[in-house]
Amino acid sequence: MKNIYGFTLEELENYFVEIGSKKFHGKQLFSWLYEKRIESLDSVTDIKKEVLEILRNNLSLDRLKIVDVQKDVDVNKYLFELSDGEHIEAVLMRHDYGNSICVSSQVGCNMGCKFCESGRRKKVRNLETYEMVLQILMIEKELGERISHVVVMGIGEPFDNYDNLVKFFKIINDPKGLAIGARHITVSTCGIVPKILEFSELDLQINLAISLHAPNNEIRNKIMPINKAYPLEVLIPALKTYLDRTNRRVTFEYILLSGINDREEDALELAKLAKGINCYINLIPYNETNNIDFKRSSTIQIMKFYDILKKNNVNVTIRREFGSKISAACGQLRSKKEEV
Ligand code: SAH
Repeated sequence: MKNIYGFTLEELENYFVEIGSKKFHGKQLFSWLYEKRIESLDSVTDIKKEVLEILRNNLSLDRLKIVDVQKDVDVNKYLFELSDGEHIEAVLMRHDYGNSICVSSQVGCNMGCKFCESGRRKKVRNLETYEMVLQILMIEKELGERISHVVVMGIGEPFDNYDNLVKFFKIINDPKGLAIGARHITVSTCGIVPKILEFSELDLQINLAISLHAPNNEIRNKIMPINKAYPLEVLIPALKTYLDRTNRRVTFEYILLSGINDREEDALELAKLAKGINCYINLIPYNETNNIDFKRSSTIQIMKFYDILKKNNVNVTIRREFGSKISAACGQLRSKKEEV
């Protein structure tokens, strides 16, 4: 049985046509699901009983299970159990501009970044579109508040699950769906170049973030295996194409790892790399995990790195930290639960 939360509006309209009913029911049902937030088809009043019966027999409205919630100042972390018993995480962060949620896109991840807990675990499977949509719907319900911003930066490599990801964007961005503005949605990738190019042709104003984490191939190869497939001389031109096509800005994420990529010469090389690209750099203090040996750079080193970028006229910020006390870093709650 297909889950109804995986249908875009267009797919739902086509579905009604396929079962010999009316296309406009698609819009009606979409609005029941996302504006009125029904959880059972019994609440639908403007579609004939016989048609609803066909839906009941063929589509499910099943939700995910929330099996753990951890709360800290301005952050809630949710552990979900999927219908096959797998686990994923989502994090809710309260900002002054609204509630933002960080969603997972896969169970595990195959990119193998050396510093990342999710990469250590390998990919089990892609998330279905409905499993991404429901992370938002269920957290909104639990909170009793709306979510205004979405970042796809949880477990998984979103561009390794591209088709389901794009459907997810269509559903949450649809004015009749969750109506989250594209400029309030960000997707983060380790740099899968063919998908960056495909994404640049997508007619949605969604923000793109790149996990850069190194100013040159030598360092990047050591910590991010994807760099061997798409080294910087391939990645950077692809980003320029993206910027030309979309007139947007790109965000570079840069985790500071002590002694690996946080030296002054790294900052200078990074400033050079950023020059001429419409970008800003988000410096991320590393969240240490029990299973991996990398160390977080000291606060002094982080400030030094930041200053060098600033002095070289790079747009740079240091990421505000949420929930390091509650294992909010990528994949840690899932690992604790499963004890691996
Ligand atoms: N696969 C995608 C999105 C998921 S990871 C990507 O690579 O962008 C989201 C971000 O968290 C990435 O920038 C990732 O490198 C970073 N990250 C992973 N482990 C981390 C940790 N322990 N501390 C801080 N950031 C981490």
